[in-house]
Amino acid sequence: MTPGRPHPEPVRTADNHGFWDAADDGRLAVQRCAGCRAWYHPPRPMCPACGSLDLRWTDVPGTGVVYSYTLLHHPQHPAFDYPVIAVVVELDEGVRLVSNLIGVAAAEVRIGLPVELRFAPTVAGGQVPVFTVAGAAQR
Ligand SMILES: [Zn+2]
Repeated sequence: MTPGRPHPEPVRTADNHGFWDAADDGRLAVQRCAGCRAWYHPPRPMCPACGSLDLRWTDVPGTGVVYSYTLLHHPQHPAFDYPVIAVVVELDEGVRLVSNLIGVAAAEVRIGLPVELRFAPTVAGGQVPVFTVAGAAQR
């Protein structure tokens, strides 16, 4: 993926708009329960731990490790270079999210690789969170 080539616009729903709105603002926000303090992702209307509806979008630094990954070769979209490195990142808060890993050769990716947050532009002028190897030069 080339950071200057816009990503498709994410599909926003009543449950996930806080995640995408934060990304447009250059922040990574994860839902946290105001009752039991559990973190969770993907977004949902009710805390899966205690059933509370009192949820807060909470900014996180976006540091973590590669929990799992795969290399995508097909189908191809003009916004991406292939293979796309699709990762499940386990954030330091313990939640996992699916994203892309950029700025690293596919052969260098491994489970447990420390990563940090970047943002990639979307076609509508927003941003989506992506990750790169921790400590890599700012792109
Ligand atoms: Zn809860």
